[in-house]
Amino acid sequence: MIRAELRPRVAAFTSRRGRPPGLAVVLAGHNPASEIYVRHKLRALDEAGCRAQLVRLDAAAAFTEVLDAVARLNTDGAVDGILVQSPLPTEMGAGAEQRVFDAIDPAKDVDGFHPSNVGLLVQNRSSLVACTPLGCLELLERAGIPLAGRHAVIIGRSNIVGKPMALLLLHRDATVTLCHSRTVDLPAVAREADILVAAIGRPAFVTAEFVKPGATVVDVGITRLDQASEVERLFPAGHPRRRQFQANGSLLVGDVHPDVEEVAGALTPVPGGVGPLTIAMVLRNTLTAAENRA
Ligand code: NAD
Repeated sequence: MIRAELRPRVAAFTSRRGRPPGLAVVLAGHNPASEIYVRHKLRALDEAGCRAQLVRLDAAAAFTEVLDAVARLNTDGAVDGILVQSPLPTEMGAGAEQRVFDAIDPAKDVDGFHPSNVGLLVQNRSSLVACTPLGCLELLERAGIPLAGRHAVIIGRSNIVGKPMALLLLHRDATVTLCHSRTVDLPAVAREADILVAAIGRPAFVTAEFVKPGATVVDVGITRLDQASEVERLFPAGHPRRRQFQANGSLLVGDVHPDVEEVAGALTPVPGGVGPLTIAMVLRNTLTAAENRA
C-alpha cells in the first residue's frame, strides 16, 4: 500500500527531471540472507518505476574496492541513493561497515547510517532515517497506536535498529526505555511497556512474561531455524508453522515467542511484518533523497 502510494511521486519526479530516482545497492560476498534482502529491495524499487542498480563485489574483494565503488556512486548524478548491504565479509575487518557508512555522501545515505544523518535524527530534524525503525514507526502510526505519553520499551541498542527506534519514538513524545543485554530484570522492565519493540536477534526470546496484557508488540528480529527440534520447541504438534518447516526445510521466526499472541493487544508477524515495511522505507528514502538533491 505504501509502495503504491509512492508511485505518483516517482512519476512526478521522473517527468520533472527526465530520469527516474536511482538507487545503487553494493553487495559484497554471497551471504544468503543478504542476497534475498537485496533482491527484494531492487525489485520494489524497479516495480515503483525507479532505476535500481546492483554493484556486486566478490567475497574476496579488497575493502578498498567497496570504498572505490561508494566513491564512484557518490559522484554519479543518476544515483540518488546508495546502500551498502550489511554484513560485509568478515575478512574486511570489524570497523569496515562503519567506515563505509562514513564514506557515503550523506545526501545519498538512504540507510541513514552516516553520522551526519544520525546527528540530525538526534536533533529531530532528520530527512534520511534508518529504514527498519522508520518502518516500525510507520506501522505503529498506520495502525493508530497512540504514542504520545505512552511507555515504549525497546530491547536491543544497535545503531541500525534499537537506537534510532528509541529516538523516533522519543520524537513522537513517547517515554522511552532502551534495554540491552546488561539490563537487570528485563522481563519486569518490558512488562511496563505499552509498546514493546524486540530487536535482539534471538528467536522467541520475548516470552509472555515480558508482555503487559494488551500491549502492542513489534517484532523486528528475524532468525532462520533449520533444526526440527527448535521448531518443535516453539510450535505444538499440528501447528501450521511446523508444516511450513517440513515443506521448506527451514523457518523464519522472530524474537517474540508465539505465546505472546495470547497476551498482546497487537503483534507484528514474522515474516510479513517489519520486513516489508523496511523495503517500503528504502523506496521512500530513495525518493526523498532524489527530491532533496533536485
Ligand atoms: P545486533 O546484533 O546489532 O543488536 C542486538 C541487540 O540486542 C544488542 O544491542 C544487544 O544488546 C541486544 N541483546 C542481545 N542479547 C540480549 C539479551 N539476552 N537481552 C537483552 N538484549 C540483548 O542486531 P540488529 O542488527 O539490531 O538486529 C536485531 C534483529 O533484527 C536481528 O534478528 C536482525 O536480523 C533483525 N533485523 C530485521 C530487519 C528487518 O527488516 N525486519 C532489519 C534489521 C535487523
